[in-house]
Amino acid sequence: MRLFVSTRNKENVVCSKEAIIQGLAKDGGLYTPRELNDIKIDLNKCLDFNYHQLATYILSKIFDDFTKEEIRICVSNAYTNSFKKDDVIAVTKIGKDFLLELYHGPTSAFKDVALTILPHLLSAAYKDYNKNKKIYILTATSGDTGKAALEAFKDVKNTYITVFYPKDGVSEIQKRQMNTTKGNNVDVVSVAGNFDDCQKLVKTIYEDSEIHEIYKNVQLSSANSINIGRLIPQVVYYFKAYSSLVKDKSIKFAEKVNFIVPTGNFGDILAGYIAKLIGCPINKLVCASNKNSVLVDFINTGIYDINRKFYNTMSPSMDILISSNLERLLFMLSNFDDKKIKQYMDDLKTKGRYEIDKEMLNKLQQSFVGIYASEIECSKAMYRAFHEDNRLIDPHTAIAYHASNKYMDNYKNIILATASPFKFPNSVLSSIFDKFVKDEKIAIGELAQLSKEEVPSNLKEIYKLEILHDKTINIDEGRNYVIERIKELND
Ligand SMILES: *Cc1c(COP(=O)(O)O)cnc(C)c1O
Repeated sequence: MRLFVSTRNKENVVCSKEAIIQGLAKDGGLYTPRELNDIKIDLNKCLDFNYHQLATYILSKIFDDFTKEEIRICVSNAYTNSFKKDDVIAVTKIGKDFLLELYHGPTSAFKDVALTILPHLLSAAYKDYNKNKKIYILTATSGDTGKAALEAFKDVKNTYITVFYPKDGVSEIQKRQMNTTKGNNVDVVSVAGNFDDCQKLVKTIYEDSEIHEIYKNVQLSSANSINIGRLIPQVVYYFKAYSSLVKDKSIKFAEKVNFIVPTGNFGDILAGYIAKLIGCPINKLVCASNKNSVLVDFINTGIYDINRKFYNTMSPSMDILISSNLERLLFMLSNFDDKKIKQYMDDLKTKGRYEIDKEMLNKLQQSFVGIYASEIECSKAMYRAFHEDNRLIDPHTAIAYHASNKYMDNYKNIILATASPFKFPNSVLSSIFDKFVKDEKIAIGELAQLSKEEVPSNLKEIYKLEILHDKTINIDEGRNYVIERIKELND
């Protein structure tokens, strides 16, 4: 059986079901597969598989304590009729490059691909464990995870979910999407702080051993990409994109490609790295950052330093300074040296900085390239994509499109398109059509008219729905807030 170990203590070993239930390891580390060398995904098979079959094939190789039938049912529950594309994703052209469209799910962001399946994996895993406990899903969001997680977990038996989002760090539409969510087990709270504050709040609760001790009827878990059950389903679309390009003869079988990934918490791009390790012919993974370019600097220098200004940008879902999943990559690059990782993470906590050694940096740079886009470059990228390549893209995708235009080697570039442009209509409208509209509802309409593209129905709907959540707390109230919820669930 495949073992998942904590990045901060190798002795902490669990199977995938347990890792998915726990979300974060109790020592604060992230569960990571200790061995992947035994997996070799057969590309020939991939060519014949639809998304359901491919997901079942790949997920059951990695989550091998689930039966294949369990995985098949999870996949079917997640991906039947929930996405507007027959095969969940689509690969299209943008200029000389390709666009991997991941935003056709229920909330119009790529987070849907993993979050539609996570509750099913969690429920299946939970059947083997203590059925009496309530699962409390604590989630920090920079905008898109929140709604996707709320939609995925609403009314799921034995679960309760609280989403924390930065009060001034998400778009009006993202806020409205979350605040209109129905369901008797959902809770949405805005925090006077940024995403890093929200993520820190959630992590300190997990690491609080007292909470686990006192409230025995509650099992904490996570819908963030710190949960391995959220991360691994993202590996599938790298193979799916690759196979579709082989099938339509855009690339030759086994020809290498580059994936350009708009990056925030480093989950999406890490899934790409795992895809590469298990046989997807990837040359480089290009980490595209916005003005919060801490990751790009890190890839170039080996120094991770958060002692810098934090910016609110047009691509709010990437406004992050502490990218959680980088910890998993470092763990893998260091040959699973938990002591080293713990030291780096302690340094990050106390000094806001760490520096990796030359050997790790070399390994890192073999697979990763970092390129960032300023706000003006992001705007120009949206303009160019529309007026030169005839493609309407959102600000997050635009960051990657900018990077793709800058990064050239002998391989073809596939850009991950992570959100519908209609989620961020004001920035898209001003960048492409030089129109400044304050009201997002009006901006959506204008954008649809000018671009001649259809607004996704879930985004049209939100303006008809009642606002059901409207709570704001300060960061220092967060812990008590969570404990109150836990107490209620525990009784
Ligand atoms: C979350 C998100 C990202 C960043 O993905 P990570 O896995 O956090 O790196 C990029 N674009 C959009 C639209 C997102 O919602």
